[in-house]
Amino acid sequence: MYSNLKLKRNIYSTEEHEMLQKMCQQFIEKEITPYHAQWEEDGMVSRDVWYKAGEAGLLCLDVPEEYGGPGLDFSFCALITEEISKAGYTGPGFFLHSDIVAPYIIDFASEEQKKFWLPKMVSGEVITAIGMTEPSCGSDLQALKTTAVDHGDYWEINGQKTFITNGYMSEMCIIAARTIIEGQDKGISLFIVEAHREGFSKGKPFKKVGMKAQDTCELFFDNVKIPKDNILGEVGKGFIYMMQKLARERMSVALMSVGGAEGALEQTIEYVSTRYAFKQPIAGFQNTQFKLAEMAIQVQVHQTFVDRCVELLTNKELTAETASMAKSACTDMHQKVVDECMQLHGGYGYMWEYYIGRAYADNRVARIYAGTNEIMKLIIARGLLRELFEAQKQRKMEKTH
Ligand SMILES: Cc1cc2nc3c(=O)[nH]c(=O)nc-3n(C[C@H](O)[C@H](O)[C@H](O)COP(=O)(O)OP(=O)(O)OC[C@H]3O[C@@H](n4cnc5c(N)ncnc54)[C@H](O)[C@@H]3O)c2cc1C
Repeated sequence: MYSNLKLKRNIYSTEEHEMLQKMCQQFIEKEITPYHAQWEEDGMVSRDVWYKAGEAGLLCLDVPEEYGGPGLDFSFCALITEEISKAGYTGPGFFLHSDIVAPYIIDFASEEQKKFWLPKMVSGEVITAIGMTEPSCGSDLQALKTTAVDHGDYWEINGQKTFITNGYMSEMCIIAARTIIEGQDKGISLFIVEAHREGFSKGKPFKKVGMKAQDTCELFFDNVKIPKDNILGEVGKGFIYMMQKLARERMSVALMSVGGAEGALEQTIEYVSTRYAFKQPIAGFQNTQFKLAEMAIQVQVHQTFVDRCVELLTNKELTAETASMAKSACTDMHQKVVDECMQLHGGYGYMWEYYIGRAYADNRVARIYAGTNEIMKLIIARGLLRELFEAQKQRKMEKTH
Protein backbone atom coordinates (compact mmCIF):
# COMPACT_ATOMS: atom_id res chain seq x y z
CA MET A 1 0.00 0.00 0.00
CA TYR A 2 0.96 3.66 -0.36
CA SER A 3 2.13 3.88 3.25
CA ASN A 4 5.05 1.57 2.34
CA LEU A 5 6.11 3.89 -0.46
CA LYS A 6 5.84 7.14 1.47
CA LEU A 7 8.90 9.33 1.73
CA LYS A 8 10.27 9.93 5.18
CA ARG A 9 9.65 13.63 5.77
CA ASN A 10 12.79 14.90 7.47
CA ILE A 11 11.10 18.13 8.51
CA TYR A 12 8.69 16.13 10.69
CA SER A 13 11.12 13.50 11.96
CA THR A 14 11.62 14.37 15.66
CA GLU A 15 9.79 12.72 18.54
CA GLU A 16 8.02 16.03 19.22
CA HIS A 17 6.69 16.09 15.66
CA GLU A 18 5.44 12.53 15.99
CA MET A 19 3.67 13.37 19.25
CA LEU A 20 2.08 16.45 17.76
CA GLN A 21 0.96 14.48 14.70
CA LYS A 22 -0.76 11.87 16.88
CA MET A 23 -2.40 14.51 19.02
CA CYS A 24 -3.59 16.38 15.96
CA GLN A 25 -5.06 13.21 14.42
CA GLN A 26 -6.89 12.44 17.69
CA PHE A 27 -8.20 16.00 17.84
CA ILE A 28 -9.49 15.75 14.26
CA GLU A 29 -11.22 12.45 14.98
CA LYS A 30 -12.86 13.66 18.20
CA GLU A 31 -13.46 17.37 17.67
CA ILE A 32 -13.79 17.90 13.90
CA THR A 33 -15.03 14.75 12.14
CA PRO A 34 -18.33 14.41 14.09
CA TYR A 35 -19.29 18.05 13.49
CA HIS A 36 -17.95 19.09 10.09
CA ALA A 37 -21.07 18.23 8.08
CA GLN A 38 -23.18 20.35 10.47
CA TRP A 39 -20.67 23.21 10.20
CA GLU A 40 -21.04 23.04 6.41
CA GLU A 41 -24.78 23.58 6.89
CA ASP A 42 -24.09 26.45 9.31
CA GLY A 43 -21.52 28.16 7.07
CA MET A 44 -19.07 28.26 9.98
CA VAL A 45 -17.50 26.08 12.66
CA SER A 46 -18.54 26.17 16.34
CA ARG A 47 -17.01 28.68 18.73
CA ASP A 48 -16.23 25.72 20.95
CA VAL A 49 -13.79 24.05 18.56
CA TRP A 50 -11.54 27.12 18.83
CA TYR A 51 -11.39 26.84 22.63
CA LYS A 52 -10.74 23.12 22.32
CA ALA A 53 -7.95 23.67 19.79
CA GLY A 54 -6.43 26.21 22.17
CA GLU A 55 -6.67 23.78 25.09
CA ALA A 56 -5.06 21.04 23.00
CA GLY A 57 -2.17 23.38 22.15
CA LEU A 58 -2.91 23.42 18.42
CA LEU A 59 -3.04 27.20 17.91
CA CYS A 60 -0.20 29.65 17.26
CA LEU A 61 2.64 27.19 17.80
CA ASP A 62 5.45 29.60 17.10
CA VAL A 63 4.29 32.28 19.56
CA PRO A 64 7.19 32.71 22.03
CA GLU A 65 6.79 31.32 25.55
CA GLU A 66 6.85 34.78 27.13
CA TYR A 67 3.53 35.49 25.35
CA GLY A 68 1.89 32.21 26.31
CA GLY A 69 2.85 30.12 23.28
CA PRO A 70 5.04 27.02 23.04
CA GLY A 71 7.69 28.86 20.99
CA LEU A 72 8.13 26.06 18.44
CA ASP A 73 9.43 26.54 14.92
CA PHE A 74 7.40 26.76 11.70
CA SER A 75 7.69 23.04 10.92
CA PHE A 76 5.23 22.33 13.78
CA CYS A 77 2.70 24.78 12.33
CA ALA A 78 3.23 23.17 8.91
CA LEU A 79 2.50 19.72 10.33
CA ILE A 80 -0.89 20.80 11.71
CA THR A 81 -1.85 22.48 8.43
CA GLU A 82 -1.01 19.34 6.46
CA GLU A 83 -2.79 16.99 8.87
CA ILE A 84 -6.08 18.92 8.81
CA SER A 85 -5.94 19.18 5.01
CA LYS A 86 -5.08 15.51 4.60
CA ALA A 87 -8.20 14.67 6.60
CA GLY A 88 -10.17 16.83 4.13
CA TYR A 89 -11.43 19.46 6.58
CA THR A 90 -11.46 23.09 5.51
CA GLY A 91 -13.83 24.53 8.13
CA PRO A 92 -11.55 25.53 10.99
CA GLY A 93 -9.57 28.59 9.90
CA PHE A 94 -6.79 27.79 12.37
CA PHE A 95 -4.05 28.27 9.77
CA LEU A 96 -5.15 31.85 9.05
CA HIS A 97 -5.20 32.70 12.74
CA SER A 98 -1.96 30.90 13.66
CA ASP A 99 0.15 31.21 10.53
CA ILE A 100 -1.01 34.44 8.97
CA VAL A 101 -2.30 36.79 11.69
CA ALA A 102 -0.03 35.74 14.60
CA PRO A 103 3.22 36.42 12.68
CA TYR A 104 2.11 40.04 12.06
CA ILE A 105 1.63 40.50 15.81
CA ILE A 106 4.88 38.71 16.68
CA ASP A 107 6.97 40.74 14.24
CA PHE A 108 5.34 44.18 14.07
CA ALA A 109 3.26 44.76 17.22
CA SER A 110 4.28 46.84 20.23
CA GLU A 111 5.14 45.07 23.48
CA GLU A 112 1.71 46.01 24.93
CA GLN A 113 -0.09 44.68 21.85
CA LYS A 114 1.83 41.41 21.99
CA LYS A 115 1.11 40.94 25.70
CA PHE A 116 -2.56 41.70 25.17
CA TRP A 117 -3.32 39.69 22.01
CA LEU A 118 -0.94 36.74 21.76
CA PRO A 119 -1.95 34.79 24.91
CA LYS A 120 -5.62 35.13 23.92
CA MET A 121 -4.84 33.93 20.40
CA VAL A 122 -2.94 30.92 21.73
CA SER A 123 -5.83 29.90 24.02
CA GLY A 124 -8.52 30.39 21.37
CA GLU A 125 -10.18 33.09 23.47
CA VAL A 126 -9.81 35.45 20.52
CA ILE A 127 -10.37 34.44 16.89
CA THR A 128 -8.58 36.63 14.36
CA ALA A 129 -8.87 37.60 10.71
CA ILE A 130 -6.98 39.79 8.26
CA GLY A 131 -8.64 42.19 5.84
CA MET A 132 -6.67 43.21 2.79
CA THR A 133 -9.05 42.51 -0.12
CA GLU A 134 -11.79 45.02 -1.01
CA PRO A 135 -14.71 44.75 -3.42
CA SER A 136 -12.79 46.75 -6.04
CA CYS A 137 -9.30 45.31 -5.48
CA GLY A 138 -7.69 41.99 -4.62
CA SER A 139 -4.60 41.39 -6.73
CA ASP A 140 -3.83 45.09 -6.90
CA LEU A 141 -3.64 45.82 -3.18
CA GLN A 142 -2.02 49.23 -3.73
CA ALA A 143 -5.42 50.39 -5.03
CA LEU A 144 -7.26 49.81 -1.75
CA LYS A 145 -9.68 52.53 -0.69
CA THR A 146 -10.38 51.98 3.01
CA THR A 147 -9.09 54.98 4.93
CA ALA A 148 -7.78 55.59 8.43
CA VAL A 149 -7.91 59.30 9.19
CA ASP A 150 -5.78 60.69 11.99
CA HIS A 151 -8.01 62.77 14.29
CA GLY A 152 -5.31 63.59 16.83
CA ASP A 153 -6.25 61.23 19.62
CA TYR A 154 -7.93 58.50 17.54
CA TRP A 155 -8.05 56.94 14.06
CA GLU A 156 -11.32 56.91 12.16
CA ILE A 157 -11.76 54.00 9.76
CA ASN A 158 -14.12 54.01 6.77
CA GLY A 159 -14.39 51.40 4.05
CA GLN A 160 -15.19 47.81 3.25
CA LYS A 161 -13.33 44.51 3.05
CA THR A 162 -14.51 41.36 1.34
CA PHE A 163 -13.82 37.60 1.21
CA ILE A 164 -12.46 37.68 4.76
CA THR A 165 -11.69 34.24 6.21
CA ASN A 166 -12.81 33.89 9.86
CA GLY A 167 -14.44 37.29 9.31
CA TYR A 168 -17.81 36.50 10.85
CA MET A 169 -16.43 34.77 13.93
CA SER A 170 -13.45 37.05 14.43
CA GLU A 171 -13.08 39.11 17.57
CA MET A 172 -10.11 40.98 16.18
CA CYS A 173 -9.16 41.85 12.63
CA ILE A 174 -5.99 43.36 11.22
CA ILE A 175 -6.99 45.64 8.37
CA ALA A 176 -4.98 47.45 5.72
CA ALA A 177 -6.04 51.07 5.17
CA ARG A 178 -4.81 54.19 3.44
CA THR A 179 -3.47 56.50 6.15
CA ILE A 180 -4.53 60.12 6.03
CA ILE A 181 -2.63 62.53 8.27
CA GLU A 182 -3.35 66.28 8.08
CA GLY A 183 -5.18 65.68 4.82
CA GLN A 184 -2.18 63.93 3.23
CA ASP A 185 -2.10 60.30 2.04
CA LYS A 186 0.78 58.68 3.95
CA GLY A 187 0.43 55.27 2.32
CA ILE A 188 -0.98 51.99 3.57
CA SER A 189 -0.76 51.10 7.27
CA LEU A 190 -2.10 48.16 9.26
CA PHE A 191 -4.58 48.59 12.13
CA ILE A 192 -5.94 46.32 14.81
CA VAL A 193 -9.73 46.63 14.89
CA GLU A 194 -11.70 44.89 17.63
CA ALA A 195 -15.09 43.49 16.63
CA HIS A 196 -16.92 45.41 19.37
CA ARG A 197 -16.02 48.86 17.97
CA GLU A 198 -19.04 50.97 17.10
CA GLY A 199 -19.56 51.20 13.34
CA PHE A 200 -17.78 47.88 12.63
CA SER A 201 -20.25 45.37 11.16
CA LYS A 202 -20.06 42.05 9.35
CA GLY A 203 -21.96 40.56 6.44
CA LYS A 204 -23.42 37.06 6.60
CA PRO A 205 -20.96 34.29 5.66
CA PHE A 206 -20.92 33.89 1.86
CA LYS A 207 -22.38 30.78 0.25
CA LYS A 208 -19.29 29.46 -1.49
CA VAL A 209 -18.63 26.76 -4.11
CA GLY A 210 -16.54 24.85 -1.55
CA MET A 211 -15.03 25.30 1.91
CA LYS A 212 -18.58 25.58 3.11
CA ALA A 213 -17.77 25.33 6.80
CA GLN A 214 -15.18 28.10 6.68
CA ASP A 215 -16.70 31.48 7.35
CA THR A 216 -15.85 34.04 4.70
CA CYS A 217 -17.63 37.38 4.79
CA GLU A 218 -17.59 41.12 4.18
CA LEU A 219 -16.54 43.61 6.83
CA PHE A 220 -17.91 47.16 6.94
CA PHE A 221 -16.29 50.14 8.65
CA ASP A 222 -18.53 53.13 9.11
CA ASN A 223 -16.78 55.93 11.06
CA VAL A 224 -15.12 53.36 13.31
CA LYS A 225 -13.03 55.09 15.97
CA ILE A 226 -10.01 53.20 17.28
CA PRO A 227 -7.30 54.36 19.71
CA LYS A 228 -4.05 55.72 18.25
CA ASP A 229 -2.22 52.73 19.75
CA ASN A 230 -4.14 50.33 17.51
CA ILE A 231 -1.80 50.95 14.61
CA LEU A 232 0.35 47.88 13.91
CA GLY A 233 3.96 48.88 13.32
CA GLU A 234 4.82 52.14 11.62
CA VAL A 235 2.71 54.55 9.57
CA GLY A 236 2.95 53.85 5.83
CA LYS A 237 4.76 50.51 6.20
CA GLY A 238 1.67 48.32 5.75
CA PHE A 239 2.36 47.36 2.15
CA ILE A 240 5.93 46.32 2.95
CA TYR A 241 4.70 44.29 5.96
CA MET A 242 2.12 42.52 3.80
CA MET A 243 4.69 41.69 1.12
CA GLN A 244 6.98 40.24 3.81
CA LYS A 245 4.27 38.10 5.37
CA LEU A 246 2.62 36.91 2.17
CA ALA A 247 5.49 34.44 1.64
CA ARG A 248 4.44 32.54 4.77
CA GLU A 249 0.75 32.72 3.81
CA ARG A 250 1.64 31.19 0.44
CA MET A 251 3.62 28.43 2.10
CA SER A 252 0.60 27.55 4.24
CA VAL A 253 -1.50 27.23 1.08
CA ALA A 254 1.20 25.05 -0.52
CA LEU A 255 1.19 22.85 2.59
CA MET A 256 -2.58 22.52 2.48
CA SER A 257 -2.24 21.38 -1.12
CA VAL A 258 0.41 18.73 -0.51
CA GLY A 259 -1.57 17.50 2.52
CA GLY A 260 -4.82 17.54 0.54
CA ALA A 261 -3.29 15.74 -2.46
CA GLU A 262 -1.87 13.01 -0.23
CA GLY A 263 -5.24 12.60 1.47
CA ALA A 264 -7.01 12.37 -1.90
CA LEU A 265 -4.55 9.76 -3.14
CA GLU A 266 -4.95 7.64 0.00
CA GLN A 267 -8.75 7.80 -0.24
CA THR A 268 -8.59 6.80 -3.90
CA ILE A 269 -6.27 3.84 -3.31
CA GLU A 270 -8.77 2.58 -0.76
CA TYR A 271 -11.71 3.12 -3.12
CA VAL A 272 -10.23 1.49 -6.23
CA SER A 273 -9.09 -1.49 -4.14
CA THR A 274 -12.63 -2.23 -2.98
CA ARG A 275 -14.81 -1.16 -5.92
CA TYR A 276 -15.34 -3.82 -8.60
CA ALA A 277 -16.06 -3.62 -12.33
CA PHE A 278 -15.83 -6.42 -14.88
CA LYS A 279 -15.22 -8.87 -12.02
CA GLN A 280 -12.07 -7.21 -10.81
CA PRO A 281 -11.15 -4.30 -8.55
CA ILE A 282 -10.85 -0.96 -10.38
CA ALA A 283 -7.23 -1.07 -9.15
CA GLY A 284 -6.69 -4.13 -11.37
CA PHE A 285 -6.85 -2.06 -14.57
CA GLN A 286 -3.52 -0.86 -15.85
CA ASN A 287 -4.99 2.61 -16.48
CA THR A 288 -5.80 2.89 -12.75
CA GLN A 289 -2.35 1.70 -11.74
CA PHE A 290 -0.63 4.20 -14.03
CA LYS A 291 -2.83 7.04 -12.78
CA LEU A 292 -2.07 6.14 -9.15
CA ALA A 293 1.65 5.91 -9.89
CA GLU A 294 1.64 9.28 -11.68
CA MET A 295 -0.16 10.90 -8.76
CA ALA A 296 2.21 9.38 -6.19
CA ILE A 297 5.14 10.80 -8.18
CA GLN A 298 3.54 14.24 -8.23
CA VAL A 299 2.69 14.23 -4.53
CA GLN A 300 6.18 13.20 -3.47
CA VAL A 301 8.04 15.53 -5.84
CA HIS A 302 6.00 18.46 -4.52
CA GLN A 303 6.39 17.34 -0.89
CA THR A 304 10.15 17.38 -1.35
CA PHE A 305 10.14 20.94 -2.66
CA VAL A 306 7.77 22.06 0.08
CA ASP A 307 9.98 20.44 2.73
CA ARG A 308 12.92 22.45 1.45
CA CYS A 309 10.80 25.62 1.54
CA VAL A 310 9.72 24.88 5.14
CA GLU A 311 13.41 24.60 6.10
CA LEU A 312 14.13 27.90 4.34
CA LEU A 313 11.20 29.61 6.05
CA THR A 314 12.24 28.24 9.44
CA ASN A 315 15.71 29.73 8.87
CA LYS A 316 14.16 33.01 7.63
CA GLU A 317 15.67 32.46 4.17
CA LEU A 318 12.55 31.86 2.08
CA THR A 319 12.24 34.44 -0.70
CA ALA A 320 8.96 35.77 -2.10
CA GLU A 321 9.78 34.15 -5.44
CA THR A 322 10.37 30.67 -3.99
CA ALA A 323 7.22 30.86 -1.85
CA SER A 324 5.29 31.86 -4.99
CA MET A 325 6.73 28.85 -6.84
CA ALA A 326 5.61 26.54 -4.03
CA LYS A 327 2.11 28.03 -3.90
CA SER A 328 1.62 27.93 -7.66
CA ALA A 329 3.12 24.46 -8.23
CA CYS A 330 1.42 22.73 -5.29
CA THR A 331 -2.05 24.17 -5.88
CA ASP A 332 -1.89 23.23 -9.59
CA MET A 333 -0.73 19.73 -8.64
CA HIS A 334 -3.48 19.38 -6.01
CA GLN A 335 -6.14 20.32 -8.51
CA LYS A 336 -4.91 17.79 -11.09
CA VAL A 337 -4.64 15.03 -8.48
CA VAL A 338 -8.14 15.64 -7.14
CA ASP A 339 -9.55 15.68 -10.68
CA GLU A 340 -7.92 12.31 -11.51
CA CYS A 341 -9.07 10.89 -8.18
CA MET A 342 -12.64 11.94 -8.92
CA GLN A 343 -12.44 10.21 -12.30
CA LEU A 344 -11.31 6.98 -10.63
CA HIS A 345 -14.24 7.22 -8.19
CA GLY A 346 -16.79 7.34 -11.04
CA GLY A 347 -20.21 8.74 -10.08
CA TYR A 348 -19.66 8.39 -6.34
CA GLY A 349 -16.80 10.86 -6.57
CA TYR A 350 -19.28 13.54 -7.59
CA MET A 351 -21.32 13.09 -4.41
CA TRP A 352 -20.83 15.64 -1.63
CA GLU A 353 -20.74 12.93 1.03
CA TYR A 354 -17.54 11.56 -0.51
CA TYR A 355 -14.20 13.02 0.51
CA ILE A 356 -13.20 13.41 -3.11
CA GLY A 357 -16.32 15.34 -4.14
CA ARG A 358 -15.80 17.85 -1.34
CA ALA A 359 -12.07 18.08 -2.07
CA TYR A 360 -12.84 18.88 -5.72
CA ALA A 361 -14.91 21.91 -4.69
CA ASP A 362 -12.84 22.94 -1.66
CA ASN A 363 -9.56 22.95 -3.45
CA ARG A 364 -10.46 25.17 -6.41
CA VAL A 365 -10.00 28.41 -4.50
CA ALA A 366 -6.38 27.61 -3.68
CA ARG A 367 -5.34 28.84 -7.14
CA ILE A 368 -7.18 32.11 -6.44
CA TYR A 369 -6.59 33.18 -2.84
CA ALA A 370 -3.37 34.24 -1.12
CA GLY A 371 -2.53 35.85 -4.47
CA THR A 372 -3.74 34.22 -7.67
CA ASN A 373 -1.41 31.83 -9.49
CA GLU A 374 -1.09 34.44 -12.25
CA ILE A 375 0.23 36.91 -9.66
CA MET A 376 2.62 34.18 -8.44
CA LYS A 377 4.04 33.96 -11.96
CA LEU A 378 4.43 37.75 -12.12
CA ILE A 379 6.44 37.69 -8.88
CA ILE A 380 8.64 34.85 -10.14
CA ALA A 381 9.18 36.54 -13.52
CA ARG A 382 10.05 39.85 -11.85
CA GLY A 383 12.72 38.01 -9.88
CA LEU A 384 14.09 36.37 -13.02
CA LEU A 385 14.21 39.66 -14.91
CA ARG A 386 15.23 41.89 -12.00
CA GLU A 387 18.45 43.11 -13.65
CA LEU A 388 16.70 44.02 -16.88
CA PHE A 389 13.96 45.95 -15.03
CA GLU A 390 16.48 47.75 -12.84
CA ALA A 391 18.52 48.80 -15.89
CA GLN A 392 15.35 50.08 -17.58
CA LYS A 393 14.43 52.06 -14.44
CA GLN A 394 17.91 53.52 -14.25
CA ARG A 395 17.78 54.60 -17.91
CA LYS A 396 14.40 56.25 -17.38
CA MET A 397 15.72 58.17 -14.35
CA GLU A 398 18.79 59.32 -16.29
CA LYS A 399 16.57 60.54 -19.14
CA THR A 400 14.37 62.62 -16.81
CA HIS A 401 17.39 64.33 -15.19
C1 LIG B 1 -12.53 31.77 0.08
C2 LIG B 1 -11.69 33.00 0.04
C3 LIG B 1 -11.03 33.41 1.20
C4 LIG B 1 -10.29 34.60 1.18
N1 LIG B 1 -9.73 35.05 2.34
C5 LIG B 1 -9.17 36.28 2.38
C6 LIG B 1 -8.77 36.87 3.62
O1 LIG B 1 -8.87 36.25 4.68
N2 LIG B 1 -8.27 38.13 3.61
C7 LIG B 1 -8.13 38.85 2.45
O2 LIG B 1 -7.69 39.99 2.50
N3 LIG B 1 -8.52 38.32 1.26
C8 LIG B 1 -9.04 37.06 1.20
N4 LIG B 1 -9.45 36.53 0.00
C9 LIG B 1 -9.30 37.33 -1.21
C10 LIG B 1 -8.27 36.76 -2.21
O3 LIG B 1 -6.97 36.91 -1.72
C11 LIG B 1 -8.51 37.46 -3.54
O4 LIG B 1 -9.74 36.95 -4.05
C12 LIG B 1 -7.39 37.24 -4.54
O5 LIG B 1 -6.22 37.91 -4.13
C13 LIG B 1 -7.76 37.72 -5.95
O6 LIG B 1 -8.28 39.01 -5.92
P1 LIG B 1 -9.67 39.33 -6.67
O7 LIG B 1 -10.66 38.34 -6.20
O8 LIG B 1 -9.98 40.76 -6.46
O9 LIG B 1 -9.39 39.04 -8.20
P2 LIG B 1 -8.83 40.11 -9.26
O10 LIG B 1 -7.65 40.80 -8.70
O11 LIG B 1 -9.96 40.92 -9.74
O12 LIG B 1 -8.36 39.12 -10.41
C14 LIG B 1 -9.24 38.58 -11.42
C15 LIG B 1 -8.40 37.80 -12.43
O13 LIG B 1 -7.47 38.72 -13.06
C16 LIG B 1 -6.15 38.19 -12.95
N5 LIG B 1 -5.18 39.29 -12.82
C17 LIG B 1 -5.23 40.36 -11.98
N6 LIG B 1 -4.13 41.12 -12.13
C18 LIG B 1 -3.37 40.51 -13.08
C19 LIG B 1 -2.11 40.81 -13.67
N7 LIG B 1 -1.39 41.88 -13.30
N8 LIG B 1 -1.63 39.98 -14.64
C20 LIG B 1 -2.33 38.89 -15.02
N9 LIG B 1 -3.53 38.55 -14.49
C21 LIG B 1 -4.04 39.34 -13.52
C22 LIG B 1 -6.18 37.33 -11.69
O14 LIG B 1 -5.11 36.40 -11.69
C23 LIG B 1 -7.55 36.70 -11.80
O15 LIG B 1 -7.49 35.59 -12.65
C24 LIG B 1 -10.16 35.34 -0.03
C25 LIG B 1 -10.80 34.89 -1.19
C26 LIG B 1 -11.57 33.75 -1.17
C27 LIG B 1 -12.28 33.34 -2.41
